[in-house]
Amino acid sequence: MAVGVLALQGSFNEHIAALRRLGVKGVEIRKPEQLQSVTSLIIPGGESTTMAKLAEYHNLFPALREFVKMGKPVWGTCAGLIFLANKATGQKTGGQELVGGLDCLVHRNFFGSQIQSFEAELQVPAIAAKEGGPPTFRGVFIRAPAILEVGPEVEVLADFPVQSNKVADPNYALESQEEDNTGTARKVIVAVKQGNLLATAFHPELTADTRWHSYFLKMVCEVGEGTSSSMCAPGEE
Ligand code: GLN
Repeated sequence: MAVGVLALQGSFNEHIAALRRLGVKGVEIRKPEQLQSVTSLIIPGGESTTMAKLAEYHNLFPALREFVKMGKPVWGTCAGLIFLANKATGQKTGGQELVGGLDCLVHRNFFGSQIQSFEAELQVPAIAAKEGGPPTFRGVFIRAPAILEVGPEVEVLADFPVQSNKVADPNYALESQEEDNTGTARKVIVAVKQGNLLATAFHPELTADTRWHSYFLKMVCEVGEGTSSSMCAPGEE
């Protein structure tokens, strides 16, 4: 049993290393037929336009959409979240192909460019309760997207308060300022779950905290198909 990790570009090695720390093998996926050998998938962070071009080149989009449609667990981090979203907006979004499936509107580069990348402590009650450990999670946001709207099936796992003058999109900043003249914009969503889809705007694979990976592995185990008991009940085999 292994978890597939889309390995076209971005932080796939870091995801594979995090899975290894939990005793699970990560398999690099680059071609449509390789998706048949796995029952779950992580789409890493990176650069979603580049990743989409490579996915198109390898004819991966139909197989990825089918994988999502079949209800197999998929976790997208950062650019991976953009891939999974039904709709994307924001600068440099034009015409970008998406896998879709996650009923949300994601805003690319919401927090700005590379130099506006940041780290922040996030409250994630659902996962802290399930995985234990400290009450907060270190969120590493690199040219990160944010989720602006979600559909009724989507469970919000974490949100984040943004200052209206600190977001990348001037139209959004204006809108937010009108909503709240204290200068504190409304919260944006940075982690969600919808059925077997998990998505985070930040990068748990760049921290030593493996609780997000454990949480995803539990989702994989709940689906059951193709999982070995060593993965789903460590220490019992
Ligand atoms: N902003 C990037 C994009 O649009 C995503 C950044 C990331 O994955 N760290 O692709």
